[in-house]
Amino acid sequence: MGLLSFLMMMAQYKIIYDRKNCIGASSCAILAEKFWTMDKKEDKADLMGAKKTGEDTWELEIDELYLEQNKEAARNCPVAVIKIVDEKGKEVKI
Ligand code: SF4
Repeated sequence: MGLLSFLMMMAQYKIIYDRKNCIGASSCAILAEKFWTMDKKEDKADLMGAKKTGEDTWELEIDELYLEQNKEAARNCPVAVIKIVDEKGKEVKI
């Protein structure tokens, strides 16, 4: 099986990030540095490549390959502003 068909078979997830309530604790950027980076001016995390869907709410689709590291980021966020949902929109247990 080629890499592309393998990736297409993997489940898709969506990260939903409520940036407004981020307190800049940085753990997401340490645990999942390919996805999260710190905006030093605003002292908030940015979810790289995400689409803005609300006032300061952001969403990014990821595949299963990146689920664990983002679950870890979500789990360690002290204000729980990172949520992950599956293809049906059901929240993933972190
Ligand atoms: S871990 Fe949570 S509070 Fe800390 S920077 Fe990331 S999103 Fe913000």
